[in-house]
Amino acid sequence: MTEPVVDQKPSERAELHLKDWRYSVDRERIAWAIFDREGESANSLGRRPIEELMAIVGRVEEGARDKSVVGLVLMSGKEKGFIVGADIREFDLLETEQQVIDSLRPVNAMLDRIERLPIPVVAAWHGVCVGGGLELVLACHYRIATRDDATRVGFPEVKLGIFPGFNGTARSIRQAGPVAAMQNMLTGGMIRASAARATGFIDELVASPGALKWAARKAVLQKRKSKPASGTKVLMAKWPARSFIAGKMREEARKKAREDHYPAPFRLIDLFEFYGGDQDALKVEETRAFAPLMVSETSRNLRRVFRLSEQLKAQAPKGLGWKPVRVHVIGAGTMGADIAGVCAASGMEVTLQDISKEQIAKGIAAQSKLMSRKFKTKATRDAAKSRLIADPDGKGIGRADVVIEAIVEKLEIKQKLFSDLESKMKPGAVMATNTSSLKLEDISRPLQDPGRLIGLHFFSPVPQMPLVEVVRGGVTREGEVKKGAAFVTAIDKFPLITKDVPGFLVNKVLTPYMFAAMARLEKGEAKEKIDEAARAFGMPMGPIELADNVGLDVCAHVAKILGSGSEGSRLDRLVASGRLGKKTGEGFYVWKDGKPEKSKSEFSKKELETLGRELVQPLIMEAQKSLDEGVVENADLVDAGLIFGTGFAPFRGGPLHFAKGLTRPSAAPAQRAAAE
Ligand code: NAD
Repeated sequence: MTEPVVDQKPSERAELHLKDWRYSVDRERIAWAIFDREGESANSLGRRPIEELMAIVGRVEEGARDKSVVGLVLMSGKEKGFIVGADIREFDLLETEQQVIDSLRPVNAMLDRIERLPIPVVAAWHGVCVGGGLELVLACHYRIATRDDATRVGFPEVKLGIFPGFNGTARSIRQAGPVAAMQNMLTGGMIRASAARATGFIDELVASPGALKWAARKAVLQKRKSKPASGTKVLMAKWPARSFIAGKMREEARKKAREDHYPAPFRLIDLFEFYGGDQDALKVEETRAFAPLMVSETSRNLRRVFRLSEQLKAQAPKGLGWKPVRVHVIGAGTMGADIAGVCAASGMEVTLQDISKEQIAKGIAAQSKLMSRKFKTKATRDAAKSRLIADPDGKGIGRADVVIEAIVEKLEIKQKLFSDLESKMKPGAVMATNTSSLKLEDISRPLQDPGRLIGLHFFSPVPQMPLVEVVRGGVTREGEVKKGAAFVTAIDKFPLITKDVPGFLVNKVLTPYMFAAMARLEKGEAKEKIDEAARAFGMPMGPIELADNVGLDVCAHVAKILGSGSEGSRLDRLVASGRLGKKTGEGFYVWKDGKPEKSKSEFSKKELETLGRELVQPLIMEAQKSLDEGVVENADLVDAGLIFGTGFAPFRGGPLHFAKGLTRPSAAPAQRAAAE
């Protein structure tokens, strides 16, 4: 078999003037529309590519009428990945609900036109096709993708405070049935190709990207058409079953997020409950319910969080000409073992050292949970496990590109370790400490080359926490900091470059907040009320419960370094009596089965709201102080650090952004305009 010939000769019709798509018709009269957004590494559905696609659809409609085109194939011009979604950068241009509705209407009309084409329309891709991209391919008649691990589909919209708006709610329910479709839209996760095929989002899988064109050609010539979900898959779309499962979905959604903070999943469930049985009504109502979410403060802030994550990633310079492949971790305790596990899971070869062989064995064994979560096949799991090697004698030091120390928090012991490491490490390798309270300058003082040491401050639990502070000591060389940031992105975490001040950014800002909460407790405020108020504000956990989680001995130690807390406080008394929090079964709370025992009390919403705002005041003030002191480069990075390092209410956009809103005349000008 030979490749289908794609005829690049200009058509007799007027030129299409495309920049983001390529369009051609081959000798078999198949039209090929190749999405390759100009000047971008990934394809997103912005205004221009959508307008160009509209023009292509118009051309194909003509071709179908005069029989010069027998089918249309949509593919990607990028090496990997098809469509990453709608272009988030353009979202903020829409200020009112009416503007949102006006921008959606022509897109949805175009998708309807694609669906109504009398000739087969096939989408074929390798890599990611999510959000608006998945909505576009769902309007095609047949979908083909590679069986590759890189191929993923999903609806990440809820993470931005919205849900699918290109009629993806209706089309996904049609293709996958309500249960699977709603689950995908409500969780916002991505699923692999084989799962997407079982779900009904993909019709056919091929072995490799090279096979896509042929499979697409065949699908066109054989007029293949995807079948909508049927049988038991669609039972739940009917009333009253629909109402019953909508209730269940609401229960589940409530466990994950509060409706007043994150309304999108709840509005999606409402939409499904009322209109899920009628495709046409669902399409119309989708737009109506989508518009207010899109202009809401929550969605704006969640989009901001997405941009902040991009800013953090941008701290790692591109084209450094340095790629970490081998990592050596010293200290196989709570932090070191997990750091080693995360590096191995990211594809690096990792050696793990400790003075205790048992500790190494325990640390490695503890990583199997992470490997099982990350790798679905035994072969990939085993490969990842084999990349994590016990190394009690430190044989890996001389070969490692990055050496990370995570041993006891004692200055002299760390100094001795690094002096010893200096002569063994290869030139150019990164030398890093995970210290949380010692000054880098002190640790590196005995070194021949003290400018080499950086801090890589991970947060616990390492696999779950997305942020790593990359600490620049007073004498640290800039090149080492850059390599540190590049390493952090290579293990799929966000780097935040900070100055070497006590607590760096995150603990420096978090500590006054926690100690102010403890001071309230001391004055007689109920701990349950304090914690509930913080959660009502949007914190993932209240400050008192957090202190018990972190360990009260650790809190007392941090307090000493940062000058917070007070002598003879309740915290001191608890530590003195060995009640250190969750790990000892008692701290501020008594802990049973990993959960704090809380007395059942009802607090008024208003009271909680007022208290919640008061509780975060010390955090906001310290965040501003850190900015003024130049702990990180700018206000956005302060907000990013607090969101990704502590879980500070993402829907509020970060402490400094939130504080700015308090002083602004109106936090939601767009909403006001829409209401007027
Ligand atoms: P840990 O007590 O759980 O583990 C320390 C490990 O280091 C132990 O297994 C010990 O056997 C080993 N060790 C001690 N001296 C050694 C040496 N000379 N050579 C090799 N191994 C040695 O401690 P941890 O909580 O994992 O903390 C480690 C470091 O990370 C500390 O500097 C701490 O400040 C920092 N840190 C901790 C957290 C946290 O939440 N626990 C968070 C961020 C940073």
